[in-house]
Amino acid sequence: MGENDQDHRDQNSNEAENGKSADNQKNESSYEEICFVCRRPESKAGKMFRLPNHINICEDCMQRLMDQASQFDYNGLLNNPDLLKELNRHGMPNIGFVNAGDIANGIPNSQRIKKRKEKKEGDEPAFDIRKLPAPHKIKAQLDEYVIGQEHAKKVISVAVYNHYKRVAMEDQKDGIEIDKSNILLIGPTGSGKTYLVKTLAKLLDVPLAIADATSLTEAGYIGDDIESCVSKLLAAADNDIDRTEQGIVFIDEIDKIARQRDEHHHTVGSEAVQQGLLKILEGSEIEVPVGAGSKNMMVPMARVNTRNILFICGGAFPDLNEIIGNRLKKQTSIGFAADLKDKFDHDKDLQKQVTTEDLKKYGMIPEFLGRLPVICPLESLTKEMLVEILKKPKNAILKQYQKLLSLDEVELIFDDSALEAIADKALERDTGARALRAIIEEFMLDIMYEIPKDDNIGRVTITRDYIEGRGAPLIEVRTIAAQPLIEEQA
Ligand code: ADP
Repeated sequence: MGENDQDHRDQNSNEAENGKSADNQKNESSYEEICFVCRRPESKAGKMFRLPNHINICEDCMQRLMDQASQFDYNGLLNNPDLLKELNRHGMPNIGFVNAGDIANGIPNSQRIKKRKEKKEGDEPAFDIRKLPAPHKIKAQLDEYVIGQEHAKKVISVAVYNHYKRVAMEDQKDGIEIDKSNILLIGPTGSGKTYLVKTLAKLLDVPLAIADATSLTEAGYIGDDIESCVSKLLAAADNDIDRTEQGIVFIDEIDKIARQRDEHHHTVGSEAVQQGLLKILEGSEIEVPVGAGSKNMMVPMARVNTRNILFICGGAFPDLNEIIGNRLKKQTSIGFAADLKDKFDHDKDLQKQVTTEDLKKYGMIPEFLGRLPVICPLESLTKEMLVEILKKPKNAILKQYQKLLSLDEVELIFDDSALEAIADKALERDTGARALRAIIEEFMLDIMYEIPKDDNIGRVTITRDYIEGRGAPLIEVRTIAAQPLIEEQA
């Protein structure tokens, strides 16, 4: 094809963009150009890249091919002279960087679905009840990571055990179906809701997806479709549908999709999102996009059954205390009501007494609550718990810093009073255990900066005074003498 022809075509495409249709008349054909990869016509796919030999590729596909070029195995193609020869024979242009396999079927690996295993008689069940850890064992393992929250750990261990028992018994056709035990975790920020679920998924070795209820919208609105949480789970399960169907989905900030109780704070569609979640919580076959966050023509879809997916919802439900308090106040007899007026207002752990009625008042629709039969309140963390969180769990923050410094052969010690000071500071911030890391990071910066300077330092002790800005940490040189490392802050 001559250069002039090419110019004509470019010109034509510009005119097409301006909405003129006369361009086609210049061309010998009045057919629309069709994308070589996705087969969409120009009117749908937009402007085409025109390659020699009447090969047209739409912008979307070109972008996708370019993206793949960076991950492409060049050797595979270059070592295959037959394939190259064949491509050249057909006049394929210099697109050696394109994965020829992908042109043929248009699906990159990240969007391929793993084959389902065929079920045969005598196959091992996906979940063997005998191999399933008993609730007390699940809790014991959780104890190694999660501090406090005894009740929550117990409730979750039992719920999860029952859930996977239900999955394992699926094939028994005795007519008794065990109901699904989706869980609702209620607790202030930083009390360990996400952490609990993450730890659980790791212990059970099942895939986990964490979604945020605030980003979920009804289909058709800007945001993630409700199915996107299952799509994330599919990605976490490495596109293996069998594993996906036994995974856990954690939906955080579920209180943010409560129906608004006063019209000043009306958010669009929050009730509709609850409605939309109903069917996947309950269990249904849904189509989810593979390897992408949203549905569009280019993305292959997979059918996933959510019947055996465990859904755990979590939320802080900030004004719930007020609702519970009011209910409790009403229950007390009128004569004493005056005495008790303030009794509930400062009770941080009022949430332990939550009922479905309270949650309905909060703005959760009854059908939604009906699909979350296990309601599990978490305690707000006390100072003692925060201190424990600093030092006890398997991967406690202090242990992490001690490990870092031990690589410099320096021992790091925290005074008990220092730990309390850190916990006090964290309590002030009111973000639960989340504040701990931020606080420690602030003052560890100087230490991590100064210590590698001096090879003689053998031990550093962090004191309360240092945390409160009234002194320096104690530094011991390898000959045991102690001296301050950082100039005292006046
Ligand atoms: P949220 O309740 O807001 O989901 P997270 O689970 O995200 O809180 O907690 C934040 C971090 O705080 C976690 O990554 C974890 O390291 C720590 N943490 C919170 N609660 C606990 C706990 N009970 N035991 C141990 N660590 C905790």
